[in-house]
Amino acid sequence: MPTSKSPSKSPSKSPATTTTTTTKRPKKTGEARTTNARATARAEAPSTETPEAATIASAADAAGEGEPQRLPTALVYDEAFLDHHVPEDFPETPDRLRMAIGMIEALLADGSLPQDQVLRLAPRAATIEELSTVHERAHVERLRMAVESLMQQGATPETPRKFASEVYISTGSYTAATRAAGAALTALDAIGEGRARNAYALVRPPGHHATSDTAMGFCLFNNVAVAARYAQQRWGWRKVLIVDYDVHHGNGTQDIFYEDGEVVYFSTHQSPLYPGTGASTETGAGEGLGATINVPLPAGSGWSVFDPIFRQVLWPVADRLKPDVVLLSAGFDAHWCDPLGGLMLCTADFSDLTLEVQEIADRYCDGRLVAVQEGGYNLDAVAQCASTVLFALTGSDKVVDNLGLPPPLNYRWNEEAIVQALYDLHDLTGYRRKPRRIQVRPGWE
Ligand SMILES: [Zn+2]
Repeated sequence: MPTSKSPSKSPSKSPATTTTTTTKRPKKTGEARTTNARATARAEAPSTETPEAATIASAADAAGEGEPQRLPTALVYDEAFLDHHVPEDFPETPDRLRMAIGMIEALLADGSLPQDQVLRLAPRAATIEELSTVHERAHVERLRMAVESLMQQGATPETPRKFASEVYISTGSYTAATRAAGAALTALDAIGEGRARNAYALVRPPGHHATSDTAMGFCLFNNVAVAARYAQQRWGWRKVLIVDYDVHHGNGTQDIFYEDGEVVYFSTHQSPLYPGTGASTETGAGEGLGATINVPLPAGSGWSVFDPIFRQVLWPVADRLKPDVVLLSAGFDAHWCDPLGGLMLCTADFSDLTLEVQEIADRYCDGRLVAVQEGGYNLDAVAQCASTVLFALTGSDKVVDNLGLPPPLNYRWNEEAIVQALYDLHDLTGYRRKPRRIQVRPGWE
């Protein structure tokens, strides 16, 4: 895996953006090193698309020098996730995870990702009782019986059948879905038992659109919601913060906890976009009033908006809740290369957003954070973001990226107005730290 910093190593895909970003970032010790290393990674990005070829930015490893030994990050994955089959042209395909795990395994094999920092775990299946803490039992049964009937009819494993709006199933779907929900529970157990510091449940089908009684939007069970209830009931972590940076609004997660004051749901998402929910005025009801924080963003929004939103809205929300555990709905369809979304995050941004969420977990709950895979439909972006997020969870700011920066915009959003509106709406106080880095793009100068 190439980690050389020589810019002449390979041609750049986006030399202009790389240069701009490098020169404009703050020249502070740790940050500058990270910054330069990341920019270099972009400059070096080779054009080939194999996992081995993606460049890693070698930067200061937070897990490194002088710090006490930290527990590993649990990586929960199962080949059964690949047995949930969909029609040929469907975006939510097994290849998403096949490529992601392939890249992660290559990074582990060549030592880029230290093996002692990653604890590989196989998920158990969530039980019907556990699924029923957020789903109606009839919803669980409906899926189980639909899959059973496919088997009885002798359907081949690769043959999908329509099950709900934007949802297909195959003979492997029930096992895949119960293990996808169970993966986050396996992760929480590893953390609760002191075997892991935090975790990444690399799963499919995704979950955040599934409501208590409806499968929709590629989702069968709401994995992150099942995890939130399990964290409360099994581990006594009552106050749960769910951060969702998928490009779509997690309508299912919002619905399930809409009247729950102990589970705070914070979502950044493109608006308007599927599924159409997630207005900032949807703030919860009853005991949950104020515990839903929606940040709808216009297409084209990127780091310049996400950075202040996370620092000045998410942080005060977290400060107010003081979570016992943090769950991250980690969708990578807000990446600028995603075919379904119109937001403009690059891979390095996912590192920073994840590090920011980890910092919240570090501050309030001994680092207890479980990232649960949601969307992301550009296969390269998913694999590279998954690898990058795994690095972030291990405490490293390394970025695996050969996609580079989004195309330049000739305008920018009034971030201050967006933040102020949310600040007022949610009666927030205080905000966190200086920007992780300054983003300047061509056209803004
Ligand atoms: Zn999505």
